Amino acid sequence: MLFKNYIGGEWVESGSGERQKVINPATEEILAEVPRCGVSEARAAVDAARDAFDNGRWPRMSPSERSQIMFNLATMVEHEIDTLATLESRNQGKTIKQARDGDFPFSVDNLRFYAGAARALSGLPAQEYLTTGTSFIRREPIGVIGQITPWNYPWMMAIWKAGPALATGNTVILKPASVTPLTTIKFAELCEKAGFPKGVVNVITGPGELVGNELVSSNAVDMISLTGDTSTGKKIMERGASTLKKLHLELGGKAPFVVFDDADVEAAAKGAAAAGYVNGGQDCTQASRFYVQEKVYAEFVDLLVKETAKVRIGDPMSRSTDMGPLVSSAHRDKVENYAILGREEGAKLEAGGKRPSSLKKGFYFEPTVFSNVEQDMRIAREEIFGPVLPVLRFKDIEEVVEKSNDTVYGLHSSVWTRDVRKAMVLAGRLRFGAVQINDHLPITSEMPHGGFKQSGFGKDMSIYSLEDYTQIKHVYIDTTGDARKGWHYTTYGDPS
Ligand code: NDP
Repeated sequence: MLFKNYIGGEWVESGSGERQKVINPATEEILAEVPRCGVSEARAAVDAARDAFDNGRWPRMSPSERSQIMFNLATMVEHEIDTLATLESRNQGKTIKQARDGDFPFSVDNLRFYAGAARALSGLPAQEYLTTGTSFIRREPIGVIGQITPWNYPWMMAIWKAGPALATGNTVILKPASVTPLTTIKFAELCEKAGFPKGVVNVITGPGELVGNELVSSNAVDMISLTGDTSTGKKIMERGASTLKKLHLELGGKAPFVVFDDADVEAAAKGAAAAGYVNGGQDCTQASRFYVQEKVYAEFVDLLVKETAKVRIGDPMSRSTDMGPLVSSAHRDKVENYAILGREEGAKLEAGGKRPSSLKKGFYFEPTVFSNVEQDMRIAREEIFGPVLPVLRFKDIEEVVEKSNDTVYGLHSSVWTRDVRKAMVLAGRLRFGAVQINDHLPITSEMPHGGFKQSGFGKDMSIYSLEDYTQIKHVYIDTTGDARKGWHYTTYGDPS
């Protein structure tokens, strides 16, 4: 399969004709080729998006007109779900049931939410805040947005970024992760059919250090939104400083999963397996540190190991597979090294810890559980981003609050208890962008997703994401008609 880039409404190759290969992580075979673009193509995409914003219809359409095109897009995605989910699964390695029944239908709902909600953004009422004139707020798009996405949810992250940015009248340049560009290119195809004017949506493939960096450095790009590693967010912040770029950063996580001894331990163990092995553990909200109160620690570990044994690993295209391969050989090596490290650090390996011997091809890694993990071990502190679950002990509320918050990250967390008071205390004291009680993961279009601390800033989904992609302007209209206003004397002359 040969894919092209979409720039200024044209389907194009890279200037040099260079291409990059895209691998199917389940078979290790070449799945497709895409253009390997660099700085000059990134500049062309920026010019196209700039022209579409400065001179085009899109930012000047009524919210209703834009919303109609967004709804067209949502309906087209809905019709293409099977094809899109299959492509995502082949490219990323996620299971077809997650792509087909989770990511894609959810993205349709996200698009419809953005399309409708952008018509009803709120602000202060127009009013005489000064008796001499009327003030009102204009809410306007920011302009040209560079949107850089990761490889774990290639499609969904493209929707979470482009959806609110487009619905509020911006123009976008999407730069997908190099290993998973295919469904983002399909997104451009659907946008073209849905009726977005030329230059409003652009998709360009190429290395982050070249294409992404050019978007970050360009004077003609007004904002960058990135979902990726915390280290990439820091680089972007440094490099975006020269143009004081507005940033929206969704970065890493190390979510605590807190189980009190009054919890339904069986439900917690099932929840732990689901939230720990989601997307092969390649999820920034993945439950990745399990704090279990002493009395139920042994029981929880035992139940989690039993749940782990039920996880079926194999061909992601089969609907009976629960976990596919990891996204790439390099990422599998990283996860494997953490499993080795866990043993070296003195944790007890309870399950997994190696590549499955029955699968000869593909970047597979077994679901893995470690017990007797201590807070200072690297497997408890660093983002593994794979199916490796460290289980730690705690005595009381104070200890678990302190340990949970003892991290640079702050994206997601959960608490398992039957005690409303404990649930409420932790909901307040955990420093994460989300705290969930007796579940870990559920997200909805109406609610924000985004981090505290080094997990970044800016929200995806919800009305808050639409606000992030707009800026407000104060318009003031004098109603006195006086040539010399009452306040002028404070600058020169005397009061009249
Ligand atoms: P990376 O940060 O390596 O890559 C993310 C994107 O940034 C890719 O498109 C990449 O391009 C691009 N990029 C890399 N370097 C630069 C640069 N210098 N300038 C501009 N763009 C650049 O992350 P991964 O793709 O490896 O994704 C995994 C990470 O993302 C994990 O740490 C995870 O926690 C985090 N994440 C956070 C989420 C959240 O919502 N908070 C959601 C999903 C993931 P290329 O591929 O070409 O290198």
